[in-house]
Amino acid sequence: MKHPRGELAAHGLAASKSRGQNFLADPAVAREIVRRAELEPGAPVFEIGPGLGALTRVLLEAGHAVTAVEIDRGLVRYLQDQVQPAFPGRLNLIQGDVLKTDLAALAQDQGRPLDVIGNLPYQISTPLLFRFLETREAVAGAVLTFQKELAERLAAGPGSKAYGRLSVMFGYYARIERLLDLGPEAFHPRPKVGSTVLRVRFVADPRPPLRSAAMFSTVVAAGFSRRRKTLKNALRSSFPESQIDAALAAAGLDPGRRAETLAVEEFVLLTESWPAAIST
Ligand code: SAM
Repeated sequence: MKHPRGELAAHGLAASKSRGQNFLADPAVAREIVRRAELEPGAPVFEIGPGLGALTRVLLEAGHAVTAVEIDRGLVRYLQDQVQPAFPGRLNLIQGDVLKTDLAALAQDQGRPLDVIGNLPYQISTPLLFRFLETREAVAGAVLTFQKELAERLAAGPGSKAYGRLSVMFGYYARIERLLDLGPEAFHPRPKVGSTVLRVRFVADPRPPLRSAAMFSTVVAAGFSRRRKTLKNALRSSFPESQIDAALAAAGLDPGRRAETLAVEEFVLLTESWPAAIST
């Protein structure tokens, strides 16, 4: 792997800030990410944003078949010219927006849920995580590089500043494992902040069980809609007061608490205590 600075210049490309293009600059880091991903040998891998192919090359060299979605046409051309020929039939490049990619269809084509890997562009990390949640049956696991602050939000527990909607949703549906911290020097151009590589695995049978996943999602989103307010006031953004009072009382939760103090199980309890939950 050549350094991205020279590689971009040699191919008439430039790093786009708006597309979150901070390329891995150190092949040892790319190898370490793939090693820590502990992928099943030879299994197909779905890569998000291959860029100049830092991770892609390591995956292909290790014998994986890679399907990769890259939004930047210049980078897709680069990968077609510089990477694809060395691995005939094993790199499937899709030019497009991963947020619009049908993950369920890809998993179906593959005949198994996706093993995802990606050094994610900062701009799409949160919407992508919510898409993963919606299509979690299509995702076996994901090893993703996030800005440190987002990684902290994902893995945060109640009472901490970073704890929010993402933490509760992923706390319920997934297990998060921190694999690696990377400093800005691991990338070109250097981002302002550090990054963290996380493994996200969806739980087959989340506990405690929910009658309505949609209701859970609405309650959590409403709870955090006004962070500085009490839970009761925040819930008013989405529900009538009579329902809120009844649900909080049935769940035995103090209406004066703030959403950020509620454990994941308490959000489940609140959802299950909702009078209209059955009909939602
Ligand atoms: N994987 C490469 C690496 O580690 O060096 C590049 C990582 S760079 C942080 C993010 C990559 O995602 C860029 O190549 C960028 O063009 C691509 N990208 C940005 N937005 C995207 C989107 N919505 N869909 C697919 N790819 C996207």
